Amino acid sequence: MLRIGIFGGTFSPPHMGHIYIAREAMQKAKLNKMIFIPCGNPYHKPKTAPVDVKHRFDMVRLAIENEPDFEISDIEVRSAKPSYTAETLEILERLYPDDRLCFLVGGDSLIDMRGWYKPEEIFKRAEVIVANRGGVDSVRIDAAVEEYRQLYGACITVIDINPVEISATDIRARLKDGAELSGIVPEKVLEYIRENELYKESIE
Ligand code: ATP
Repeated sequence: MLRIGIFGGTFSPPHMGHIYIAREAMQKAKLNKMIFIPCGNPYHKPKTAPVDVKHRFDMVRLAIENEPDFEISDIEVRSAKPSYTAETLEILERLYPDDRLCFLVGGDSLIDMRGWYKPEEIFKRAEVIVANRGGVDSVRIDAAVEEYRQLYGACITVIDINPVEISATDIRARLKDGAELSGIVPEKVLEYIRENELYKESIE
């Protein structure tokens, strides 16, 4: 039985915070690989994904191209409907019937998950791996972990990492101002952003 990491997100753009927690999760939660799944039409944050799905997908591909254990899946971007994690995991369960799905989230997303579509299905289908992020109170994470264990019998592992405060929201604002982002966004992704003139408009 393999332990398959599943890492969903808007990735607008993908950044070193994503790469860092994916690497840490691989090692600390003993995963065999990590599948990055950029979302199609994010229903829960419509204002923050003005960049075309194709660009977000290509940027993730570039961000992970030198990481042998990382893969990308178009399972959500090729769907015409909004993507729900519960449904994505159902499809993945069929693709990996003998393996364990391990869904990676940042601490902020873990706290939000009670409001996601069918959280009970998510916790039934996957173990959840949590990476805390700078600015998120660990007391709130612990409370969410406890709540989901009681409500859903969730299997949740919080990995011990040095939280980093990188966020795509901050990066988008800094790109608009022409800031230097080496070391925060992978170099190939920065080149792609420049070539395609992304994030020039004022967006949230
Ligand atoms: P935005 O600022 O637009 O909300 P983001 O930086 O949170 O974007 P997403 O693509 O929305 O990036 O995140 C995908 C997943 O990665 C989420 O589960 C999020 O919690 C997690 N994540 C992103 N950045 C970090 C970070 N620095 N530390 C821990 N988790 C993170």
